[in-house]
Amino acid sequence: MSLVPKTARAVIIGGGVSGCSVAYHLAKAGWTDIVLLERKRLTSGTTWHAAGLIGQLRSSVNMTRLAKYSADLYVNLEAETGVSTGMRQVGSISVALTQARNEELLRQATTARIFGVDVAEISPAEVKAMYPHLNVSDVVGAVHLPLDGQCDPANIAMALAKGARMRGAKVLEGVKVTGVTKAAGRVTGVDYMVEGEPGYIAADVVINCGGMWGRDLAEDSGVTLPLHACEHFYLITEPIAGLGHLPVLRVPDECAYYKSDAGKMMIGAFEPKAKPWGMGGIREDFEFDTLPEDWDHFQPILESAMERMPLFQSAGIHTFFNGPESFTPDDRYYLGEAPELGGYWVAAGYNSVGIAGSGGAGMALAHWITEGEAPFDLWEVDIRRAQPFQRNRKYLKERVSETLGLLYADHFPYRQMATSRGVRRSPLHEHLKARGAVFGEVAGWERANWFANEGQAREYEYSWGRQNWFGNAAAEHKAVRTGVGLFDMTSFGKIRVEGRDACAFLQSVCANDVDVPAGRIVYTQMLNARGGIESDLTVTRLSETAYLMVVPGATLQRDLAWLRRHLGDAFAVITDVTAAESVLCVMGPKSRELLQAVSPADFSNEAHPFGTAREIEIGMGLARAHRVTYVGELGWELYVSADQTAHVFEALEAADKGLKLCGLHVLDSCRIEKGYRHFGHDITDEDHVLEAGLGFAVKTAKGDFIGREAVLRKREEGLARRMVQFKLRDPMPMLYHNEAIVRDGRIVGPITSGNYGHHLGGAVGLGYVPCAGESVEQVLASTYEIEVAGQRFAADASLAPMYDPKSERVRM
Ligand SMILES: Cc1cc2nc3c(=O)[nH]c(=O)nc-3n(C[C@H](O)[C@H](O)[C@H](O)COP(=O)(O)OP(=O)(O)OC[C@H]3O[C@@H](n4cnc5c(N)ncnc54)[C@H](O)[C@@H]3O)c2cc1C
Repeated sequence: MSLVPKTARAVIIGGGVSGCSVAYHLAKAGWTDIVLLERKRLTSGTTWHAAGLIGQLRSSVNMTRLAKYSADLYVNLEAETGVSTGMRQVGSISVALTQARNEELLRQATTARIFGVDVAEISPAEVKAMYPHLNVSDVVGAVHLPLDGQCDPANIAMALAKGARMRGAKVLEGVKVTGVTKAAGRVTGVDYMVEGEPGYIAADVVINCGGMWGRDLAEDSGVTLPLHACEHFYLITEPIAGLGHLPVLRVPDECAYYKSDAGKMMIGAFEPKAKPWGMGGIREDFEFDTLPEDWDHFQPILESAMERMPLFQSAGIHTFFNGPESFTPDDRYYLGEAPELGGYWVAAGYNSVGIAGSGGAGMALAHWITEGEAPFDLWEVDIRRAQPFQRNRKYLKERVSETLGLLYADHFPYRQMATSRGVRRSPLHEHLKARGAVFGEVAGWERANWFANEGQAREYEYSWGRQNWFGNAAAEHKAVRTGVGLFDMTSFGKIRVEGRDACAFLQSVCANDVDVPAGRIVYTQMLNARGGIESDLTVTRLSETAYLMVVPGATLQRDLAWLRRHLGDAFAVITDVTAAESVLCVMGPKSRELLQAVSPADFSNEAHPFGTAREIEIGMGLARAHRVTYVGELGWELYVSADQTAHVFEALEAADKGLKLCGLHVLDSCRIEKGYRHFGHDITDEDHVLEAGLGFAVKTAKGDFIGREAVLRKREEGLARRMVQFKLRDPMPMLYHNEAIVRDGRIVGPITSGNYGHHLGGAVGLGYVPCAGESVEQVLASTYEIEVAGQRFAADASLAPMYDPKSERVRM
């Protein structure tokens, strides 16, 4: 007990690999007054029994960056700390048994190459040469990463803990955190128990690295951390003569990974339907525990393994291991500061990549805590993407039974979850369903992604090429460009900011000038001090003291957190009004004609110009019509109170003006033709607003706001990179994101978002091109190609939108 300090700058809860890495990196960053508390012994939760695979192939650019950091760190950890980590760069092979899988592997390899990860495409014969035990008769292709490795996971954690201690951190075992104390919206410390005695540490920062305990621990503090344990299995054989040194092997099409160690083979599985565990909570005495064997569950995996690697037919079984690991609703872990409580940080929910992930994650989190900002865009794993409802344990239990298996499923574009659906629905859900909607899910919202024709199956047939709904999307796209389409965008996040200081407060967080007359809509960004984009939104002034901020559904919690964090003493109330109003977007050159047929209001340019909002009568109800667009056409977003939504929809439909129901896929393909940026992909907190090409929405003359200095500085320094729009000349290949931009033969960065431009007649992508000291003409004078799955395709490049560069259609 005497070892436990009374105060600390930071308390880290949990001594698994996550907590140890956070402690190591905080100490490395100079925060030495920190303490890690582990309820039992270090690694005794999930970490001790991990398989120890350290892979770098990830589906996105920033996850690749973090995985590469981990691999590089672990190689050097032993020399630094003297703790043997067992890290060996044996390399890894991932094999594809289908063309689709091969395309995915090759796409990932392209993404990895952008960050200098050593990766090569290899033939089945080369696989056989490296892995003689493997049956390669049906192998279609493979990739090899020579610097991937395997390690002893417990010792990685121990080495990180030692590295933290060497820099002054305290790492204490047998100390259980029983509560996190708080005052005025911030953490103040932790209560703990040690040897039956209570104690208290006052602290500025608390980091929940509690693994599968993390959800309940967070909930006690009112923090949302949606994760749930699942059983995860592997099997180790008796020693096999002549096994030799083998690379790690992944056969995702058979849900299996293989590792050789000390002459034995290990096979682990990510089976399609997993077994959630710990529904009633986790036993208090859980420590270095295992879960019961389940041969029936593992049998299908083992059967394929016997075919794939015949040595499994005769090898004796040494261990059948089953251990719990935490999984999350979207298979991505959580990092960052909880929006609900200042100073409460998390690094948990690792979805079976916690060993490979924690090195990079610990680095990133420590940077975020000590510097006040993430080292680069981490939105993919940001805790602020979690929705409060996702704390629901029934939801979590059902969802994680799917997400475990998804790790090795084909990660097709637009792939939708099958479990835990239907939680958040628009008032139009049944109307759209009856008219052929095929739904996808974002932040729990069911959204119509595309509309099936009469008699057409209402389901996705996934692939990397044109999917079964390509023709439907083309027709919807055409309706928006030539007629009138309707999108249900009720999932938009809606935030009201009201009060005496509402205007002054929003002026301080928005880069555009929002001190406008009531009825005006302002497109703006909220910037961080670096000029990076924290949020991309519209702000509508409703009255002298009231504003409506409209943000993407997925970023609502993040935006609310950003606003609340910066409110200070301003006299304004911030309220989430998302569920109160639906949003029906009526878009296309014939939208005026349609609205005119159902409303007595005047929709002319004079009466209702672009960028304004007016209350209108519609059918027998009321709506607020906002003249804005995300598809680059004449159009209005109708904000309708939830109770009148169905009525307004029916009135629009009854007008019989050729209205076509359109889905989110076409919203995206229209916006990319117009070059509109997509938050989280094209614009993130890492991307400077001027380099993103959004300088037109920044008004430095209005006075001070967050990011203003950074904007002024960048104007003086000049841009280091520019956002460019690309269109492939070959109309067949598809762009999604993370393909490589090749400038004059050299990879210069990733495509940040991509879709098919049905009007432009080819795949369109956006991405940054480094261009320090170059003029626009020089940037455009280069030859561009886009590398898709290892193949390069010629692309046209433009800084102005390729569709309607002068925005004449928006103002028609
Ligand atoms: C069978 C299996 C194989 C795996 N193979 C791999 C692999 O090959 N590669 C890979 O990258 N990952 C692998 N993983 C995943 C990896 O093991 C985990 O992602 C990782 O160990 C999670 O680490 P953690 O620190 O988040 O959780 P844990 O290791 O569970 O640590 C959390 C700690 O918090 C402590 N704690 C909880 N509550 C409190 C409290 N109130 N006070 C104090 N302490 C508390 C717990 O005692 C525990 O020690 C595998 C997992 C399993 C189950």
